[in-house]
Amino acid sequence: MNLILLGPPGAGKGTQAVRLAAYLKVPQISTGDILRAARQVRSDLGRKVEGFMLSGQLVPDDVVTELVRERLGQPDASNGYILDGYPRTVAQARSLEEILVKRGQGIDCVLNLEVTEPELVKRLLGRGREDDREEVIRDRLKVYRKQTEPLIGFYSKCGILRGVNALGEMDEIFTRLTHAVNGKA
Ligand code: AMP
Repeated sequence: MNLILLGPPGAGKGTQAVRLAAYLKVPQISTGDILRAARQVRSDLGRKVEGFMLSGQLVPDDVVTELVRERLGQPDASNGYILDGYPRTVAQARSLEEILVKRGQGIDCVLNLEVTEPELVKRLLGRGREDDREEVIRDRLKVYRKQTEPLIGFYSKCGILRGVNALGEMDEIFTRLTHAVNGKA
């Protein structure tokens, strides 16, 4: 099963993606994790993306798309995956489509985690990551609204979008996600 987890920063994509990956026995592919790892080892890629990440801006589309193309070509991704944090722009969604068509694959379902804005800010402030300072949070939410939110319409037109209420307890949200994946919601 090939899934995309969509949602604003702070919606709980990362946490739920890890659990869903274990449940479905497929890898979780997080572009944020890949980019943070590149920064930690101070690779050329890491240095290139640092400024974007620290200021809450998106890394250029071609950079992340290349990472995803490579990652999807690895053997463990041949039986499905959960994309967490990619695509984040309509251009990335189009590139993903091209990559998948070439591989003879498609996306089965896009799960959109729905959370109210005050709850997002509260969660992000509590997380304490280096890009979770209040002014950066505001910028990341702005970037989300302008560049990522249009994906809801994009995938809704494709008929594969499923909205999931992401307020409440983690276990409760996970159950809703499994129901959505299994077509029960
Ligand atoms: P995340 O862990 O998904 O919140 O990502 C952290 C940061 O990595 C984002 O604020 C962006 O700077 C960068 N990033 C992650 N995924 C993408 C993507 N698909 N497109 C552009 N930038 C990304």
